[in-house]
Amino acid sequence: MKFDTAYCLSLDEKLSIYDVRELNFDETVAFDSDKDSFLCPNDVCRAAFQASNVLTTFNAKNVNYLRTPHFKNTPATQHIDGCRYASTHKGAASESDDEREDNFPSEFVLTRRTYPRNTALPGSEEKIPQDPTKTPSTRVGSPASSHESAPDKTSVFAHPVECYVSNIDNKDKLKSMPLKIGDHTATYWTFFKKIEYLQDNKGLIYWGKIKEIKDYTNSFRIDFEKKVWLDKKPYSVNVYLSKKLIENYRKRKAFLEQIKAAVDSERTLYCFFYGVTPELKQVPSKKNPEQTFGVFSADIENLDHLIIREAPGVQ
Ligand SMILES: [Zn+2]
Repeated sequence: MKFDTAYCLSLDEKLSIYDVRELNFDETVAFDSDKDSFLCPNDVCRAAFQASNVLTTFNAKNVNYLRTPHFKNTPATQHIDGCRYASTHKGAASESDDEREDNFPSEFVLTRRTYPRNTALPGSEEKIPQDPTKTPSTRVGSPASSHESAPDKTSVFAHPVECYVSNIDNKDKLKSMPLKIGDHTATYWTFFKKIEYLQDNKGLIYWGKIKEIKDYTNSFRIDFEKKVWLDKKPYSVNVYLSKKLIENYRKRKAFLEQIKAAVDSERTLYCFFYGVTPELKQVPSKKNPEQTFGVFSADIENLDHLIIREAPGVQ
C-alpha cells in the first residue's frame, strides 16, 4: 500500500512525497526526511496512536529515481479499523501498485508551495531557520488541515511528470485525467507534447529524448534527438540553462548532481520542461562564423520546471 500524502510531524502539515523531495534538496531549509516522522494522513487514525506509529518513505532522497516515490507502511505501522491506509493484504501482495503514480494532481500550480514551521518542537533545541518569504501571520486562520481543501494540487513539476511517465502504457487513463496549468485546462495526454511537435501549440509541457548535453562547466545546453520540421526542412531543438540560473537555484547541488550524471550517462534520458517554447533562431556557424543556421531554441527560465530523467516505456 502506498500513500500519496503523509502527515509530517515537524511541519505539522500533510505533504506529498514530492514535497518531501523538494524539502530534502532545498539548500535554504533545514529538513531531512530521515530525521523526521511521517504519520497516517487520516486525522482520526493518527489521533488514535502515538507519534512513534510512523510510515516510511521510498525514494525520498534519490536524485535519479526510477521507481515511483511514495510513503508506505512499515511492518509495524498500525491503523484504526476502516482507515483507508490500512494494508488489506499483508506482505508483498500490492508490490506492483508501487510501480505507478496513481494520484494525479488536477492542477500544477506555478507558484512554489512554502512549508512554514509554525511550532517549535517540544524538546527540540535546534534552531530552524524560517522561510523568509513566509511571515508568521500567514498561519493565522490557516489550520493544519487547510491543504485538505486542495489535496489534488501540486507545485512540484516531478509529480505530474511521474504521473505521465509511469502511466505511459495506459493512454486511456492519461486521456481521461484533467490537468490545469495557469488558465489552460487539458488532459494529461494533450498537455505533454513531444518536442518534435512543439509548433502545434504553445504553453505545453514539452518532452523528448536527449541526444546530448553540452557541459560548458557553468552552463549547459540540452540537445534533443528529434528535429522539428518547418517548410520541409529539419531543425535541431535545444534548451539552454544559464550559469546565473543554476548558481541561484536553491536546489543547486541536487541539480548539478543530476545533470552531471546525465552528461556522462550511457542510459537513454529524457528532458521534460514547462514555461518556455523553443523558437526558430539564427545562430552563427562554428566552422564558418559568417554563416548562420536555424535552430529551435529556448532559454530555460525556471529550473523548477525542468526535469531530466529516465522514462522506461516512453518512446
Ligand atoms: Zn491510518
